[in-house]
Amino acid sequence: MTDAVLVLNAGSSSLKFAVYPDGDGDPAALLRGKIAGIGTAPVFSGRDGAGHSLPSDACMSLPHAADHEALIPALLDWLNSHQGGLTIRAAGHRVVHGGRTQTDPAIVTDALLSELDTLVPLAPLHQPHNLAAIRCVAASAPGLPQVACFDTSFHRTQDKFAQLFALPRALTEEGVIRYGFHGLSYDYIASTLRAHLGDRADGRVIVAHLGNGASMCAIKNRRSVATSMGFTALDGLMMGQRCGALDAGVVLYLMDEKGMSAAEISHLLYNESGLLGVSGISNDMATLQASSAPEARDAIGLFCYRAAAELAALAVAIGGLDALIFTAGIGENSALVRSLICDRLEWMGISLDDGANAKNAKCISAASSPVDVLVIPTDEEVVIARATHGLIHG
Ligand code: AMP
Repeated sequence: MTDAVLVLNAGSSSLKFAVYPDGDGDPAALLRGKIAGIGTAPVFSGRDGAGHSLPSDACMSLPHAADHEALIPALLDWLNSHQGGLTIRAAGHRVVHGGRTQTDPAIVTDALLSELDTLVPLAPLHQPHNLAAIRCVAASAPGLPQVACFDTSFHRTQDKFAQLFALPRALTEEGVIRYGFHGLSYDYIASTLRAHLGDRADGRVIVAHLGNGASMCAIKNRRSVATSMGFTALDGLMMGQRCGALDAGVVLYLMDEKGMSAAEISHLLYNESGLLGVSGISNDMATLQASSAPEARDAIGLFCYRAAAELAALAVAIGGLDALIFTAGIGENSALVRSLICDRLEWMGISLDDGANAKNAKCISAASSPVDVLVIPTDEEVVIARATHGLIHG
């Protein structure tokens, strides 16, 4: 039997999981999988440690009532009876919001859960599902140690100017500050910098996490100095369906002149904007790249313009740039997006090797480029697995 750590990332309609050996060092995943379409038509997909899709007879069979409450106990049963012989010793969860106080991963207690409940209004699309998954695991496997790992923690090293809004102090003291997100991804990338950059790892680095959700983080000495997301995961870069940074006056206009409710505006900004809103075609970058419609070109062009502008602004926080890292679905796979962003930043010393960029090579900067440009696949799950193992073994 292999003692294992289960990593869960619960969303509104999906549940992603990964299983790692409960050991020291840098564990490799034994299994990874996803249940998508929860609440409508759930579908299971899984891969073994070598990345091969599981054959259908090795997949988990989905229970009749396939909601989170039914799926989590079924997943635990399936893993504990897995043919490889797994014993789940602990569960680690991605939790989007840890507020100001959670600066590190934490063992789940009733008191912690109550504190995290108070943050639901700050991340209404993610936090309730993250916490529900923790409660489901506690109900199905009482006594199983659980660890919460927060997307906000990595950014708590930022100084006050990077975190403050120019709002009355009373609101700041109430917690209306820039928290930043995607911290588990940035934590992973920061942990790889020494191997990729040697002595330059402690220098001025910007990480561009470009996926369906997108943000950037300015890092120095492998710590977060500034980031593009703010109070919510709506700020900063243009995203798949989210607008990114927006003049707050637009929200007032939508309320006062268009008579839209808060719920309608929220839906517009979170679900109907970004690549989807500008193109009117899709939130998916690969789909837009394959389209010849001018609206698709506009959406890609605006995404890259905004990303380049945000990157230049973040460089202010770290006094220049030694290395730029692309990660996540678009960052790791789209040579077009990387080149459209970097072409606007030649004045900052960023110059690409087009051949290496086209091949998604690890190093894509030209030999003469003062700034190193790298493509590093992110791995948020391994950060959670390491933290969970570390905390439960003291
Ligand atoms: P993520 O949220 O990190 O899974 O990233 C999803 C985004 O990555 C989607 O917009 C995908 O279309 C995009 N993506 C994945 N592969 C490619 C590719 N080969 N070319 C362009 N975009 C891609």
